[in-house]
Amino acid sequence: MTAPLDPPKLGEPYLLTPGPLTTSYAVKEAMLRDWGSWDDDFRAMTRELRTRLLAMLGEGAGDFDCVPMQGSGTFAVEAMLASFIPRDGKALVLANGAYGKRSAQTMEYLGRDFVLVDKGDYLPPRGDEVAKILAEDPAITHVVAIHCETSSGILNPIEEISQATYAAGRKLLIDSMSAFGAIELKPSEIRYEALVSSANKCIEGVPGFGFVIARKAELEAAKGRSHSLSLDVHAQWANMAKTGQWRFTPPTHVVAAFLVALKAHEAEGGVAARGARYARNRDVMVAGMRELGFETLLNDRWLSPIIVTFFCPAHESFVFDRFYALMKDKGFITYPGKLTVVDSFRVGCIGQMDEHVMRKVVEAAAASLKEMGVDDARPPAIALEERAKLAA
Ligand SMILES: *Cc1c(COP(=O)(O)O)cnc(C)c1O
Repeated sequence: MTAPLDPPKLGEPYLLTPGPLTTSYAVKEAMLRDWGSWDDDFRAMTRELRTRLLAMLGEGAGDFDCVPMQGSGTFAVEAMLASFIPRDGKALVLANGAYGKRSAQTMEYLGRDFVLVDKGDYLPPRGDEVAKILAEDPAITHVVAIHCETSSGILNPIEEISQATYAAGRKLLIDSMSAFGAIELKPSEIRYEALVSSANKCIEGVPGFGFVIARKAELEAAKGRSHSLSLDVHAQWANMAKTGQWRFTPPTHVVAAFLVALKAHEAEGGVAARGARYARNRDVMVAGMRELGFETLLNDRWLSPIIVTFFCPAHESFVFDRFYALMKDKGFITYPGKLTVVDSFRVGCIGQMDEHVMRKVVEAAAASLKEMGVDDARPPAIALEERAKLAA
């Protein structure tokens, strides 16, 4: 399927980063006027935004509601944790990268009880491990999981995590920041109480707000739980139900841009088509990079269609900062890696890009290597030993 792309026209580079990302010209153009936050027109925009996001859940969406929250994605994660985990509750936080650890840190700030399972840089938390921990600790009320852990690009096994959680009678909260809109999360197939995502990831809007999608029963139960006035999901929800307005100044231009992005998402064919374009982006880019000798951190079973981590080549002339600058010269902004054991970098597959752009990315990488005098992009042996820890 060919997606109706509307690439940058202003000569700016492609952002191969997982948000902010490359948005369409139409999305940017939507920000060229002002809206009164109390005006009916803007209230209708907020209403449409919530309805369209909810519709993305598919079957079972009727039990849920959508609450937009000002701020970056982290604000929405904090709002979710503080609103749905009772003050006397206890969370099991599953981490395999920076975002899982950030959720644990948020629990620390909130002063709420939690246990952290830290799987390191990328090993996935599995259903049987979750089941074992929950069986041993009856005080745990909630499991917090990261859908796509953007720091390595791994797509975590959210289905088995959900099964283990509900088999033990606990509740699941999902940070689906970098996956929602491209990877299905149908409540009829995967059970959970709430998820969060933000404007500037797979829906391809600009940064400025996040949103919580939660079961109405959980939203009702969240009253009075939050530690924070501005991050209180129940209060924002109740106010929107009553007045149609955000409680505090909304990012009006970001909302306008987001509506254009939502319509483009629908026109492309919704979650399945968006996910298919990103998967194709990944497949074309990874195949090309592998031909150059690059190796991915993850084997194919765990590669998300969102972002891919590559090991830096072992060649002595390879320096990431120089590679970054050469790629930027050619119109592509890459992303440094976050692995602790070996050097790595990341290439995002999301945003207004298709496989033709991804082929140019590979060409640019080949040319950059040549300019650096790197004739072999293979990683050091230790990188491959590291990868061998990951079961297929
Ligand atoms: C982007 C992202 C966030 C939020 O990051 P912000 O910088 O606060 O927008 C949270 N979790 C995951 C998995 C993400 O990819």
